Amino acid sequence: MRWFYRCPTCGAEYEMEPDRYLCSSCAPKTLPDRPLEGVLECAWAGVWEGDSRSVPLPVEPEWFPPVPVGDTPLWAPERLRADTGFKGLWIKDDTCQPTGSFKDRASFLVAAYARKKGIREIALASTGNAASSMAGIGAAAGLKITVFLPKAAPVAKRIQVLQYGAELKTVDGTYDKAFDESLAYTKATGTLSRNTAYNPLTIEGKKTVSFEILSDLAARGAPAPDHVFVPVGDGVILAGVYKGFEDLVRLGRLSKVPVVWACQAKGSSAIARALSAGGFGDPEPSATIADSISVDVPRNGTLALAKLTKYGGRAVVVTDEEILSAQRTLASGTGLFAEPSSSAAAAGFLKVKGELDPSSTVVLLVTGSGLKDVKSAAHGLGIS
Ligand SMILES: *Cc1c(COP(=O)(O)O)cnc(C)c1O
Repeated sequence: MRWFYRCPTCGAEYEMEPDRYLCSSCAPKTLPDRPLEGVLECAWAGVWEGDSRSVPLPVEPEWFPPVPVGDTPLWAPERLRADTGFKGLWIKDDTCQPTGSFKDRASFLVAAYARKKGIREIALASTGNAASSMAGIGAAAGLKITVFLPKAAPVAKRIQVLQYGAELKTVDGTYDKAFDESLAYTKATGTLSRNTAYNPLTIEGKKTVSFEILSDLAARGAPAPDHVFVPVGDGVILAGVYKGFEDLVRLGRLSKVPVVWACQAKGSSAIARALSAGGFGDPEPSATIADSISVDVPRNGTLALAKLTKYGGRAVVVTDEEILSAQRTLASGTGLFAEPSSSAAAAGFLKVKGELDPSSTVVLLVTGSGLKDVKSAAHGLGIS
């Protein structure tokens, strides 16, 4: 089996090398204020020999950091099932990841790759969770982590970064500025970038969730998912979820890719707008309480839009009020306290459930712990 990178836009293939991030022919076509062009995907040729639960990954398990990422619980929210009438409703709970968010799936694979290649330092820009995740997984792996974080990031995520012993560079500006500063740093120092979408392993690492969803459902005697609700900012989780389902179809374990719902906040809905307009327009400044999905220009917008279009994915836009209300519904109705961004997936489901067959199998992807941003939750409760 041979692993390589492929450009989903032009089909160009590249060796997997630490300094290879984007497609050389498509990346220069990136326009100002538009998503990255030439985001690469991991691809493999040959036959995957693993068993029926295994996930084909481009880094061998011997390099995995010693920290239990993935295999998060998939469980049945009985009371929410009763309240909504959806007997096949499931929660995939990634608040249980070591650092409290889904981002650990990407950090894990990037850290494994760094170890394999003998790279000692990883740098990244983040709105919060990618930073706290890379810091934590990097600590387990014994890597130096340098983080570029906008000043406005929630305090818990900043404290996590420091607690895990990473180097924190606070950026007086937006995530976009942090992104540029981190790239200048990785270029100058020769460190590995874990910038989301930019490093193809961030998408590949996230695909593991789809493998788990399928095998967890099968273990419970439930059918494959019909609908998966995913909170979307940059669109990397979305692309990872699709990549996993594509692999599963290729491996013959799944007959078709489910309907994936891209759940976005009204104040940060570039991908939803692009899906209805058929392309990306001028960015609108993002403004939402859901900080982890708050982006002006979604870095992985181009690939996310291509996947949604190819597989008949849908978008649903929810207001901050709907997000905070879904956050309370989820917490008080299931026992799961999720951060606002991941509550957007629940909000999306609650908003469109009338359009769905109540007998269908529905998975809500819950991506981050509510304890990461108690200020927003307090706001939702009306006590701040
Ligand atoms: C990063 C993040 C998202 C959004 O992921 P994208 O890849 O940016 O779309 C959703 N929820 C949580 C908790 C996150 O940290």
